[in-house]
Amino acid sequence: MTGTATEISRGASVSLIVQKFGGTSVGTVDRIRNAAARALATQRAGHQVVVIVSAMAGETNRLLALASELSPLPDAREVDALASTGEQVSAALMALAIQAQGGKARSLLGHQLGIITDSAYTKARIKAIDAQRLHDELADGTIAVVAGFQGVDEAGNITTLGRGGSDTSAVAVAAAVGAACEIFTDVDGVYTTDPNICPTAKKIERISYEEMLELASLGAKVLQIRSVEVAMKYGVPVHVRSSFSEAPGTWVVGEEQSLERVTVTGVALDRNESRVMLVGVDDRPGIVAQAFTALSRENISVDMIIQSPSAHTTPAGPDGAVSRKTDVTFTVTKADLARTQQVMESMRVVVGAREVRYEEDIVKVSIVGLGMRSHAGVAARMFELLAAENINIEAISTSEIKISCLVATRYAELAVRALHDGFGLGTPA
Ligand code: ASP
Ligand code: MG
Repeated sequence: MTGTATEISRGASVSLIVQKFGGTSVGTVDRIRNAAARALATQRAGHQVVVIVSAMAGETNRLLALASELSPLPDAREVDALASTGEQVSAALMALAIQAQGGKARSLLGHQLGIITDSAYTKARIKAIDAQRLHDELADGTIAVVAGFQGVDEAGNITTLGRGGSDTSAVAVAAAVGAACEIFTDVDGVYTTDPNICPTAKKIERISYEEMLELASLGAKVLQIRSVEVAMKYGVPVHVRSSFSEAPGTWVVGEEQSLERVTVTGVALDRNESRVMLVGVDDRPGIVAQAFTALSRENISVDMIIQSPSAHTTPAGPDGAVSRKTDVTFTVTKADLARTQQVMESMRVVVGAREVRYEEDIVKVSIVGLGMRSHAGVAARMFELLAAENINIEAISTSEIKISCLVATRYAELAVRALHDGFGLGTPA
């Protein structure tokens, strides 16, 4: 794999480990020291080590806040030039810390390592990594310390990979050099649900890429979604673990290796959705298409969609013509709601809606598990468990390995606990 390659190809090298340290794991000089010690210990155990760093905790937020002070909509190219500096600081500090403990280390920025991305500022995608450059660095026992989150486009502009993007840097580098990837963070793994909500939640030992993708899309923030996609595409085993302990964390691996054959692996709560209801829309071909095309043009992604006959259907007139109406309900993220409102106001007349309603007081609870594919009755069980708590389901969506229900915000925690313990995920009290 060379700098001219247009794709990350899965290399092969047995004893190479990529270790990524997140913001809290490099949040202070002391913590950087600890991380450095861990990288050195890994090297002493006989591995070549690549370290990927995030910015020190809070730094990216601080930088972005500075930009917004100057402009409500700052130029994306400059935002990336700014935001990427956080990782430059921690990469240099990490290299210094390794050197101070007697090791060899060199920091490498995205452009120095030939991390080539597309030009989509603030959410760029990696297209190529110069694996040879990395191998050359490592050959003499140097630990390569790579600034996460950043790359350059073909024209040499600095880009960033989206919030949480250093996970993706780590997995992509691991893919390029054929390494496993350890993600050191401030939690000790992926849990069956949020332990703050459900005290019986427990750490999952192994989880498949597919399940992890669903959980991450539902707001489990341990890994950036994109990083899981890259790991799945290239088959990179990812070990999510705490930088403050020696205990093993959670392995994110291929389906074949995710041994546990349970029906439900995790329960997720997503507080970021809001509901939009188009009331009394014309029930004709093409109407729904128009509404959703308008949304996608604005880059707004829609999650759940329900269409049902409307109470507003006008009865047959003297000519016998019935003007059939339908209600269309869908969800978008709360962050997209304001823009959705704009789009819907402009579409209202076109689609013949009587009214558009917006609701933010809802959450989405979901169960995720590969085992659902082969077990009938999982949905029924989920609905029963919610019903037993008198929780009304406002909308439902399913995929092969996920079932989601929209419920009122006040039921959020109760729903999570009922499902978690109802599906037997909890540790027995
Ligand atoms: N520093 C970046 C962020 O805060 C990237 C990362 O930490 O993964 O989003
Ligand atoms: Mg992160």
